[in-house]
Amino acid sequence: MQLAIVVPAHNEASNLPKLFESLQKALAGEPEDWHVLFVDDGSSDDTLSVLEKLSRTSPRVRFLSLSRNFGQQSALTAGLDHAEGDAVVTMDADLQHPPGLLPAMLEKWRNGVEIVHTVRTKTEGVHWMKTSSSRLFYPIFGWLSETHLECGTADFRLMDRRVVDVLRNMPERARFIRGMIGWVGFQSQVIEYTAPPRLHGGTHYTFGKMLSFAWTAIRSFSTRPLRIATWIGLITSLFGMLYFVYVLYIRLFAQTAIPGWTSILSAILILGGLQLFCIGVLGEYLALVFEESKHRPLYVIRKTGNLASGKRSPSAIGEKPG
Ligand code: UDP
Ligand code: MG
Repeated sequence: MQLAIVVPAHNEASNLPKLFESLQKALAGEPEDWHVLFVDDGSSDDTLSVLEKLSRTSPRVRFLSLSRNFGQQSALTAGLDHAEGDAVVTMDADLQHPPGLLPAMLEKWRNGVEIVHTVRTKTEGVHWMKTSSSRLFYPIFGWLSETHLECGTADFRLMDRRVVDVLRNMPERARFIRGMIGWVGFQSQVIEYTAPPRLHGGTHYTFGKMLSFAWTAIRSFSTRPLRIATWIGLITSLFGMLYFVYVLYIRLFAQTAIPGWTSILSAILILGGLQLFCIGVLGEYLALVFEESKHRPLYVIRKTGNLASGKRSPSAIGEKPG
């Protein structure tokens, strides 16, 4: 049996040798024939030369180098498209996903589990903003998209070949792989762990990037925001009508002169704001359709190392798989 470990890496030169060493240690006693497929996601540091060096010293190291920074989700997709193996593990390059968990994950897989998720119960040395925003995200995502996500799942999991093949046939561009895996189904189990702090360097995900990632996730999995916009519109127009009845009553039966402008102005401002909000939500979905309809490839490969075939996958050449 063969195991492929897919690792996206953006400016991780100082972490890669240590990661490979830890993998060698963790997998020493396992019967599977394993290799790592690193995806250099347009790094500007020495990541590529470190990978070239590692791949010369060990046939277990394979790599893809993308032509620019396409983002973690696209790098993961590139890795999954090119990973050979009866089981594929995806994990981060910064050792926040402990290789020591791999034997336990493999054990579950051998027993027939098709997806082994890992859930971090705690992350050491992480800003409270990140922890609390992630704690907030999972329930909101679940409610909006009706897709259950375990709170704290990251892109550290083992997938059976069948799961990987299904994923490879999902050509959508707005990619949120965690959610896509939730959609795929199959038998899954969870392993819990405490994430250690990053070995070298800082996180690539600032608060703004996290927000945009969360919105991409929700938008690509749910049309509920559109529904919410409709409801907001409906409810405000109901209020508008009630207010109109009140205004009519004042005009006909009360003799008071209406000063007027405060209420008119606030109605204009509130309704105008709501209209813009709803149009914005609509526009976001339109943009999504636009993005999807371009059928551009998700990534472009510039260089490969130790890869058996330089095969080009459906998403790499921008074709819709059959
Ligand atoms: N990563 C990537 N492309 C990017 C940003 C990140 O391939 O544009 C990789 C990065 O090298 C790491 C993983 O994605 O292996 C997770 O990134 P990071 O550790 O910065 O995220 P965090 O753990 O802070 O959520
Ligand atoms: Mg990290």
